[in-house]
Amino acid sequence: EQRNAHEPEFMQAVREVAETVIPYIMEHDIYHGKNILLRMAEPERVIMFRVPWVDDKGEIRVNRGFRVEMNSAIGPYKGGLRFHSSVNLSILKFLAFEQVFKNSLTTLPMGGGKGGSDFDPKGKSDNEIMRFCHAFMAELFRHIGPNTDIPAGDIGVGAREIGFMFGQYKKLKNEFTGVLTGKGLSWGGSLIRPEATGYGTVYFADSMLKTKGESFEGKRVVISGSGNVAQYAAEKAIVLGAKVLTLSDSSGYIYDEDGIDEEKLAYVMELKNVKRGRIKEYLEKYPKARYVAGKTPWGEQCDIALPCATQNELNDKDAQTLVKNGCACVAEGANMPSTPGAVEVFHNARILFAPGKASNAGGVATSGLEMSQNSLRVGWTREEVDERLKKIMLDIHNSCIQYGKQEDGYTDYVKGANIAGFVKVADAMLAQGVV
Ligand code: NDP
Repeated sequence: EQRNAHEPEFMQAVREVAETVIPYIMEHDIYHGKNILLRMAEPERVIMFRVPWVDDKGEIRVNRGFRVEMNSAIGPYKGGLRFHSSVNLSILKFLAFEQVFKNSLTTLPMGGGKGGSDFDPKGKSDNEIMRFCHAFMAELFRHIGPNTDIPAGDIGVGAREIGFMFGQYKKLKNEFTGVLTGKGLSWGGSLIRPEATGYGTVYFADSMLKTKGESFEGKRVVISGSGNVAQYAAEKAIVLGAKVLTLSDSSGYIYDEDGIDEEKLAYVMELKNVKRGRIKEYLEKYPKARYVAGKTPWGEQCDIALPCATQNELNDKDAQTLVKNGCACVAEGANMPSTPGAVEVFHNARILFAPGKASNAGGVATSGLEMSQNSLRVGWTREEVDERLKKIMLDIHNSCIQYGKQEDGYTDYVKGANIAGFVKVADAMLAQGVV
C-alpha cells in the first residue's frame, strides 16, 4: 500500500478487487503463497513521455503522455487512451488495472493497458487536435503494435483522434495494421464499435432486470454524461421502450420530462459530436426541458440509473437518494463512477448493481472483434457484430452470477466480476512461472 499511497484512484480500484479476491485466494490452495495479486497490482511497464506540439498561435506547448502496460498474461495489452486535463498516473493505473479484469471477462485473448495525456481537447481547433495527436504518436509508436499493445479511445479520444493517431503510426512504421481500434469503417474499423459500450451496458442491465422478471419497457432512466457511452446507452434504452430523462456534462445536466426520444437524441449527437457544444444547448432546441447547473442527475426520480461520465461521479449520498426514490437497477457505463460508499449503499439495499468492469466491457469486447476482423482481413455485418456483442454480454452476466451469487439469492456482481476476471489471468500467470 505504501508504495502507491500517493495514487488514490489506483488504491481505490485495487482495494475493491482485493476485498473480494483475497477471500477467494484463501479458499483455493493453488493461488496461495504466490503473491499473485501483488504481482497483478504492479504494471509490467509504464511509459511516460514529453509531448511537445505547436498551437494555432505558433506557440510551443508541452503535455505529458503515458502508456501503462499492466498485464499481458492472456494477450497483448489492450485499453483506451484518455485525453483530459485530470489525467495522471494514478488515474491511468486504476483504469489499466480494471482493464485487466474486464478484458479477461470478455473471454477474448486480451491483456490490459491504458494510456493518455493531460492534454485538454476542449476549445482546440481540428488542426491543434491533429498536431497534438501526431506529436503523441511520434513517441507512442515505439511501444505499441498489433501483437504488442493495441490502444483505443476513451474520454476525449473518439474517431477523429484515432484517425490522426493512426495516420501518424502508419507513416512512421510504413505498415497498415490493426494497431488501434475504433478506426473509421473504410480503413479497418468495425461496425457497432462506436455503439458497443453503451449498447453493451444496456444489454447487461437488461439481463440483470430479467432475473427479476423485469425489462426496460416503460422504465424511467437517468443517464450521466453525453459522450460516446451515454449517447449509445440512451439510444438502446429508448429502443427497448424506456423513457430517458437526463444527460449531462461536467457543467450540469438536462432533464426532459417528456423523455429524450430518437429525434432529440439525434440533436444531442450533432451538438456533441459535430458542433462540440455543451449539453445545456439542448434547451435552445427543446426549451421545455430544464437545465440544472453544477449538479449530477442522481436526485431525479428513476427506476434505472446509468452513470456514463467519469470516475467517482456518484457518491454514498447520491446512492441513498437513488434508493430512496425507488431506483432498482444501476449499471455502470463509465469506469468506477460509483464511490465505494455508494456501492455499499446499493448492496445493503439489495438492488441490482453492475460494476463497470462487467457492464461496460462491450466496448473493449467489440474492439477485440475489430482486431479479429483486421487479422482475418474481413468485415462482419452489423447484425453479426451485434449478435456477438450480445452473446459476450450475456456470458459476462452469467460469469458474474456463477461467482457472485450469495446464500440469500442476491447476486453480488462486484464479487462475481472480480473473481471471474481474476481466475483466468491468475491461471495464466501461474502457468507462465514467475512473471
Ligand atoms: P467522452 O469523452 O465521449 O464523454 C465523456 C462524458 O463525460 C462527457 O459528457 C464529459 O463531459 C463527461 N465528463 C468527463 N469528465 C468529467 C468529469 N470530470 N466530471 C463530469 N463529467 C465528466 O467519453 P466516453 O463516453 O468514451 O467515456 C465515458 C466513460 O466511459 C469513461 O469513464 C470511460 O473510461 C468509460 N468507458 C468508455 C469506453 C468507450 O468505448 N468509449 C469503454 C469503456 C468505458 P465534458 O464534455 O464536460 O467533459
